[in-house]
Amino acid sequence: MSWSFETDADFQAELDWTSAFVRDELEPLDFVIEHPYDLQDPVRRKLIPPLQKRVRERGLWACHLGPDLGGPGYGQVKLALMNEILGRARCAPITFGCQAPDSGNSEILAHYGTPAQKERFLRPLLENEIVSCFSMTEPQGGADPKVFTTKAELHGDEWVIDGEKWFSSHARWASFLIVMAVTDPDASPYQRMSMFLVPSHTPGIHIVRNTGLGYEPGEGGHAYIRYEGVRVPKDAMLGPRGGAFVVAQTRLGGGRIHHAMRTIGQVRKALDLMCERALSRFTQGQMLSEKQMVQEKIADTWMELEQFRLLVLQTAWKIDRYHDYQKVRKDISAVKALMPKVFHDAAARALQIHGSLGVSNEMPFSTMLIESFHMGLADGPTEVHKVQVARGVLAEHRGTKGMFPTGHLPALREAALRRYADVLEREVREL
Ligand SMILES: Cc1cc2nc3c(=O)[nH]c(=O)nc-3n(C[C@H](O)[C@H](O)[C@H](O)COP(=O)(O)OP(=O)(O)OC[C@H]3O[C@@H](n4cnc5c(N)ncnc54)[C@H](O)[C@@H]3O)c2cc1C
Repeated sequence: MSWSFETDADFQAELDWTSAFVRDELEPLDFVIEHPYDLQDPVRRKLIPPLQKRVRERGLWACHLGPDLGGPGYGQVKLALMNEILGRARCAPITFGCQAPDSGNSEILAHYGTPAQKERFLRPLLENEIVSCFSMTEPQGGADPKVFTTKAELHGDEWVIDGEKWFSSHARWASFLIVMAVTDPDASPYQRMSMFLVPSHTPGIHIVRNTGLGYEPGEGGHAYIRYEGVRVPKDAMLGPRGGAFVVAQTRLGGGRIHHAMRTIGQVRKALDLMCERALSRFTQGQMLSEKQMVQEKIADTWMELEQFRLLVLQTAWKIDRYHDYQKVRKDISAVKALMPKVFHDAAARALQIHGSLGVSNEMPFSTMLIESFHMGLADGPTEVHKVQVARGVLAEHRGTKGMFPTGHLPALREAALRRYADVLEREVREL
């Protein structure tokens, strides 16, 4: 039996190094690099590769991967502790080679890619020589992939892709897209679609526009794409024909928990700023920190953060233990469903405690609030994950055929009296 919450000293030294590196090198970078995924940006080209080199020299590159793919193979618990720190800076994941969606895309390439696909797409992706895009959601619906209509038809030796995709993050910087398309319209709903590896310079790919999130002025990073007669060779399929759902699940399981790990870093940042302000601001005869309703905000945030973190770490531990995302589906959905609320509530409280400054664009809280909604949508909306949790919990229970529930007190009392009847009778006789 082993039950420990300690980090071993060697790994703690790596975490300390990472923490100082993120604070000193990467948090400042967020102010000078607009899009860390834009590999052509001259400022980014100058500043990020030398930092990536330092991460590699430290042996912390691509910590989500095993040694076969160039990572240290730390497993999810250690990765969680690292990602909590990386979550503090936008530029941190790409500097450590574990950024979404490339991390998930490399996971499915490693799992399903042919040797030729791995050489062409996976190898440069792992080196961050290129970035990638996962193009699945469609304008008419994202939460239910069964409504997708983008299709791929086999014409001779080529697949021809037609349709529209929405919120394909980073498409404008990506060298290739992983596109989900209907290949077998008459098959059952979960076997109608396949995945394709599509180089982004392929004729027929039109970016209608690049949508931004609420806090981003101008062009954003989420593409509305029209695929018009996009031709790729027959061997561009990734994974089995009709296997798109299974392939997507392989990538989303890991992606969801990695987002949660990084969100812990953002929630902690909100809490730290909240406490600093409470200890610095004097109003109506007291520091904010002395007012009970402010104390409540701080206590609630800390308790929710610690609960959430424990669930994330326990889920990470289960992934390491079972090596099977199916076995931790309920846990991952629970983490995914909790994440936006914990993040939202922490950001909202921090904003409130900062007053007018908090709501302004001079503090990060309004960005955090939008990002909390991002966490409640990307990789599936919260509602869908709650349903998944409920199904998992219900699967561990059974109904009763009796008229009254098994917890009905009169029946339990009667059973207890029957069980201890002889003792009770003896005691009464001896009175
Ligand atoms: C920042 C960001 C990045 C993204 N990046 C990508 C990407 O790279 N690639 C990609 O393919 N997609 C991406 N997405 C899209 C994301 O996967 C979808 O937003 C998500 O699946 C929901 O789809 P939708 O936006 O079409 O909402 P809809 O499917 O229209 O759902 C809208 C709302 O309806 C409710 N709802 C839906 N289903 C249910 C249900 N079963 N029960 C109860 N309520 C329900 C929920 O409140 C949900 O938010 C990204 C999204 C965001 C916000």
